[in-house]
Amino acid sequence: MSDYLEGALGPGRGAQVRWHLGHCARCRRDLEALRRLLHLLASIPADAPPEGLRERVLKAASELGTPLAVR
Ligand SMILES: [Zn+2]
Repeated sequence: MSDYLEGALGPGRGAQVRWHLGHCARCRRDLEALRRLLHLLASIPADAPPEGLRERVLKAASELGTPLAVR
């Protein structure tokens, strides 16, 4: 849990999300999947992204249905 959550939701909402994640296995799993996607996305060289990969990652992240902003 980190800056992108705090920045997207604000400190109060972030605390609510953290509490929820502590009690909801499904959301923890979804968040972990999202974090892996974000890590993958960050690992893509900005000057030479593989064809279509960035779009696929963003689409997969959106399909998780989590209220998280992807920067
Ligand atoms: Zn949940």
